[in-house]
Amino acid sequence: MKSHARVVVIGGGIAGCSTLYHLTQEGWNDVVLLERDELTSGTTWHSAAQVTNFGAVQTMVGLKTHSINLYKELAEDVECPINYHHGTGGLRLAGTQDHLDGYRHFRSMAKGMGVEFEIIDADECRKRHPLITTDNLAGALWDPMDGDIDPAQLCQALARRARKAGAEVYRHTPVTGLTQTANDEWIVHTAQGDITCEHVVNAGGYRCNELGAMMGVVHPVASMEHQYFLTEPIADLEALDFRVPLIRCPTDDFYSRQEKNGLLVGFYEQDCRTWGLDGIDPDFTNALCPDDPDRVLPVLENVFERMPCLTEVGIHTIINGPITYTPDGLPLVGHVPGKRNAWCITGLRAGLGEGGGHGWLLAQQIVHGEAVYDTWCLDPRRFAKYADIDYTALKAIEDYQNEFRFHMPHEHRPAGRPARTTPLYEVLEQAGAEFGVVNGWERALYFRPSPDFEEAHSFRFNNTFDVVAKEVEAVRDRVGIMEVSGFNRYEIAGESVHDWLDTIMCSRVPRKPGRVGLTYFLNGDGNVKGEATLANLSPDRVWYGSAAAAELHDMDWLVEHLPDDGSITITSFVETHSIVVVAGPKSRDLLQAAFADTDWSKEAFGWLSAREVTVAGHQIVAMAVSFSGELAWELHVPNEALVDCYSALTAAGEPFGLVHFGLHAVDSMRIEKGFRHWKADLITEFNPMESGLERFVKMDKPFVGKPALEQMIKAGPRRLFVSLELDSDGAPAHPGDSIMSDGRVVGTVTSAAWGHRVNKNLAMGFVDVSSASIGQDLHVEVIGEPVPAQVCDPCRYDTENDRVRS
Ligand SMILES: Cc1cc2nc3c(=O)[nH]c(=O)nc-3n(C[C@H](O)[C@H](O)[C@H](O)COP(=O)(O)OP(=O)(O)OC[C@H]3O[C@@H](n4cnc5c(N)ncnc54)[C@H](O)[C@@H]3O)c2cc1C
Repeated sequence: MKSHARVVVIGGGIAGCSTLYHLTQEGWNDVVLLERDELTSGTTWHSAAQVTNFGAVQTMVGLKTHSINLYKELAEDVECPINYHHGTGGLRLAGTQDHLDGYRHFRSMAKGMGVEFEIIDADECRKRHPLITTDNLAGALWDPMDGDIDPAQLCQALARRARKAGAEVYRHTPVTGLTQTANDEWIVHTAQGDITCEHVVNAGGYRCNELGAMMGVVHPVASMEHQYFLTEPIADLEALDFRVPLIRCPTDDFYSRQEKNGLLVGFYEQDCRTWGLDGIDPDFTNALCPDDPDRVLPVLENVFERMPCLTEVGIHTIINGPITYTPDGLPLVGHVPGKRNAWCITGLRAGLGEGGGHGWLLAQQIVHGEAVYDTWCLDPRRFAKYADIDYTALKAIEDYQNEFRFHMPHEHRPAGRPARTTPLYEVLEQAGAEFGVVNGWERALYFRPSPDFEEAHSFRFNNTFDVVAKEVEAVRDRVGIMEVSGFNRYEIAGESVHDWLDTIMCSRVPRKPGRVGLTYFLNGDGNVKGEATLANLSPDRVWYGSAAAAELHDMDWLVEHLPDDGSITITSFVETHSIVVVAGPKSRDLLQAAFADTDWSKEAFGWLSAREVTVAGHQIVAMAVSFSGELAWELHVPNEALVDCYSALTAAGEPFGLVHFGLHAVDSMRIEKGFRHWKADLITEFNPMESGLERFVKMDKPFVGKPALEQMIKAGPRRLFVSLELDSDGAPAHPGDSIMSDGRVVGTVTSAAWGHRVNKNLAMGFVDVSSASIGQDLHVEVIGEPVPAQVCDPCRYDTENDRVRS
C-alpha cells in the first residue's frame, strides 16, 4: 500500500467511489480509496437505486442532472456498460391543490437549471401508469428523467475509471485512526499500515461517526431502518410493452418502481425505527436488518388502494437496511467543521441518485476551494454544535415520517425544538410569538393576533398577510421591538485588528472608534463569500456580526486567515449575548424614556455609530443600524441582562404604541429597501459587482480574492442582481422561481415578499445582463402562472435614507 497520497477517501460506497472518480476528473490522480470490506458493502448494495432529477432547490437539481448525465455515459460505455433504466419517467403524486402548488413552484425552479418537469392531472397519471387508481388524486409532477440503476455496477464503473486515471483502491483495509500533523496533513492509520495525505474524506456511510470520532467530531447523522418489498411477477405488468414509471406518494408514504416483471415497493411508516445509535456491530457488513413487515402494514393498506394489483401478488424478498439522515434531510458534503483539510460526504439518504453529483461538487471544493454551484445547502457547517445525535435522531424520525412531504413556505417542523433559546423565549411566547428556527435558535416569525391563531401554510398569500401588515405598519408609524436570537457575534481583538481585517474584507473597515460599517468578503475566485457588520469599539477591538446561520462558516474562514503570530484573537459571543432591536420613528424617544442615563439624541448617537452603554443596570453595546429601513437600534445584550432590558423597554413602551414584530415583517421591509440576505441573495456564484455591491468594494487596497475579481471585472458580468415589482396580489414569488423574457428563462428569484409599506409584490434575483435595465418588462413564473414583472430600483422605500438618519 502507498505511504503517501494527496487525498485519502474512506469508504467504498457510492459517496466514496464518486468522490474518487471526480477527483481524478478535476486533475488530481494521486488519490486513494480505502474500504474496510468490499466496495458497496455498506448501504449501497441493497439500495432501491432510484435516480430522480427532482430537488427542492437549484443546487440539488443541478447535481442530480450531473448524476443522470454521468450515469447515462457509464451505461453507454462500450467497454464496460452498466444497467441503467434511464428516462423511465416518474410521478410525484399530489393529493391536494397545495401539493400541486408546490410542484408548480418546483417546476419553475427546475427550469432555471434546464430541467423540464410537467404537471399532469389524475387521468394523465393513469394513462402513464395503468396500474394505479385515481381516487383522491389531484395530479402529479412528471419527471421525465426518472429511472433506476444497478448500484454495484455503478460503483465498480466509477472505481474502474478512477483507477484508469491513476487512483488506487484498497479493499479490506479498515481505517482505525486519524492523526493530524503539525502541518495540517493527516495520517490515516489502517489495519494494513499508515498513509499520510493532504486531505482526508469521510465517506463512511452509516459508520461516518466512527470515523468522526477518530478526528474528534460528531456528525449530525443518524440512521433509520428502511424497508422495501419485491413482488412476484404481475400479469398486468407483463402485458405492457413499456416500463411503468416510478411513483412517489406524499400522502400514502410509499414509492414504487418496476423490477423485472414485478414491482419494488418501499415504505415510510410512521412507526419507524432508528438504527445503530448505540454503536454498530463491526461484523455488520453486506448485511441487512431483520425483516419487519408488520411495521409497514398501515402504509400497505393505502398502497393497495392506489395499486389494487398488489393485493393479488406474492412478496418474494424483503429488504430492510440502514439509511442515513441529517437534521434537514440534505447530506453533509464539504468541510468538516473546525478541521483543516478534512472533508465529508455523509448523511446521504438518496445517495444513489445524488451521489454522482455530490462527489462532483465535493471534488471541486477539495481541488479548487469552491464548486460551480453555491453549496451552502449541503455545507456541514450549517449545523452548529446543538445538532447532536439525540437531536439528529428526533429530526431523522420526523423527516422519515414526512419523506415525500416537502416543506410548505415558512413551515418549521416541531421535532427537537426548542434546541437553542435565550432567556426571552418564554417571555416572547407569552406575548404570542410564533417561532421559527434559525441555526437551532427559536426566533419569532410573527405574533399571533389571538391565542388560537394558526397559520395555513400555502404557496399563496395566507392568513399571516394582515398580521404581518399590522406589524410593519406599527414599525413604520410608531415603534416595534424584536429579539434577534443567535445573531453571530465575535469580538476580534489585537493591536493590528483593523489592518488585518482590511486585508480580508473587500470593503473599507471602519477606522473611526464608535463607527459601524457593513463589509463583505470574497473567496479566492473573487465571488461573494460573506457579509459582516463591523463595529469599531476601540483601536484594538472590533465586534463582528453576521447571520446566525454563518456561525461555523465565518469562524472557519476567519481562523483560516488569522496571522500565525497569535496577535489577533477571536471570541464568540453567540451563546452569551442576544440582540434586542428597537425600530421605528419613535425608537429614539422610547430608548430615552427607558434608559435615561444614556444620551440617545441624534447628535450623540447618530446612524451607523456604536457605543458601550449602561441600560437597566447592565453594560451593553448599542448600535444605530437598521435592517428595516426605519430609525433603529440594535442592543447587544448579555443573556443575564436580557429580561431586564426587554422589560424596561416594554414598560416604557405603552405611550409610544410599542408592538412586537417578527422575521416576516423584517423580510418585507428589508426587501423594500433592497437589503440582501446571506445565502439567499449573496451566493458564491456571483461576484460583488454582479451582486450590486460595487459601493462596498474598495479596489484601492489588496484583499482576499482581488486578483480574481479584477479578471472578472475585465470579462464583464455573467448576470446582475435586480429587484422586481410583480403585477399580482395572489401569491408571492418564491426563491428559485424562474424569471422569464419572451418565454425564455433569464434569471432566478432569490428572495421575495409583499412590501407592506409600498404595497407591492416584490422580488429580488439574478438575471441575464440584457434583462437587467430598470423598467424592463419580464415575467416571473409563480406557481404555474407567468406573472408580469418589471425591473425596478432596488430601494423602493425612503430612497434617501432620511428615516434611518432622522
Ligand atoms: C432500503 C433502502 C433503499 C434505498 N433506496 C434508494 C433509492 O431508491 N435511491 C437512492 O438514491 N438512494 C436510496 N437509498 C439510499 C442510498 O442507498 C444511500 O444513500 C447510499 O447507498 C449511501 O452511500 P454511502 O456511500 O454514503 O454509504 P455506504 O454505501 O454505506 O458506504 C460507506 C462505506 O464506507 C465503508 N467504511 C465505513 N467505515 C470504514 C472504515 N473505518 N474504513 C474503511 N471503510 C469504511 C463501509 O464499509 C461502506 O462500504 C436506499 C437505502 C436503503 C437502505
